[in-house]
Amino acid sequence: LAMYAAKRAGAHSWMKHDPSMVDRRAMDALLAEDLTGAAGRGELIVLYQPIVDLATGNPSGYEALVRWRHPVRGLVPPLDFIPVAERTGLIYDLGLYVLTRACTDLVHAPGSPYVSVNLSPRQLQTPTLVHDVLSAVKRAGLPMERLVLEVTESAIVDEKSIVTLHELRGHGIRIAVDDFGTGYSSLHYLTRLPVDILKIDRSFVAELDGTPTGSAIAEAVIRLAQVLRLRTIAEGIETADQTRELLALGCPTGQGFLYAKPGPLEAVFTNAGRSLDPAHPSPKLSEAER
Ligand code: C2E
Ligand code: MG
Ligand code: MG
Ligand code: MG
Repeated sequence: LAMYAAKRAGAHSWMKHDPSMVDRRAMDALLAEDLTGAAGRGELIVLYQPIVDLATGNPSGYEALVRWRHPVRGLVPPLDFIPVAERTGLIYDLGLYVLTRACTDLVHAPGSPYVSVNLSPRQLQTPTLVHDVLSAVKRAGLPMERLVLEVTESAIVDEKSIVTLHELRGHGIRIAVDDFGTGYSSLHYLTRLPVDILKIDRSFVAELDGTPTGSAIAEAVIRLAQVLRLRTIAEGIETADQTRELLALGCPTGQGFLYAKPGPLEAVFTNAGRSLDPAHPSPKLSEAER
């Protein structure tokens, strides 16, 4: 790797003085090279985490979370390759692959749950996004009302991204703000954003400890959502106490390891036994890889 990095850096002598930069660029280049065509080779795996009604524990939808099974590196978590895909532009096709996979996987799921798919900033900035999302969802046969797209505050950077979200919502797709509270958007901005759902970031759920200070941010987000008539989904629920507190604060929905870790389709729908759509089987994930 060092030699590869040195070669690549050769053209930019300044990089030789910043080894961390060389490593980053070389790693990016190597990963990006491997990531190109990963979907076509069946290396991308989409796991599903239920989003449950906190009062009953019943799932109302599922968030699609991608994994990359690299032939040499093994299972690569999204935080290790999504940023690279974002920097190199590979995220656009990768994102459409995940969307298509998720819609196809869940279109016939019992109870007609909604499907929640993450959308990166770069995807939101691409002019063909609305067209490509609509055709992917139509091809899968999923009603637009059953799709939620998750965007972070930092992705909604300009008028164009707001117009795009308006367009998507015009077709019945719902928009969730992911990791809400961790970005830098002003609260004033939020009142005019075309969104339906606020996802309370895991860090604020982790602070819930029965004290007013611990619940301060979660409570503020929930109140804000109530006034703006938005739904809230709490992320990263790990204890029954957190669920009790969220319900008391007025948050009706959530996801987290307390309920289920993200799992392959077959495991999420245990009684389905096999892929719900035998015509389009998903790549399998072994027990050891989870
Ligand atoms: P996210 O969208 O905020 O997803 C929630 C993350 O929290 C997931 O991590 C999930 O496994 C994890 N999580 C859920 N419940 C718990 C819990 O109770 N405790 C803890 N400690 N963690 C919990 P994951 O799957 O590693 O994904 C990380 C991030 O990668 C996601 O954060 C999302 O930003 C990004 N990502 C994943 N799949 C995609 C994708 O298809 N497209 C894009 N653009 N980003 C994706
Ligand atoms: Mg998400
Ligand atoms: Mg999140
Ligand atoms: Mg998060």
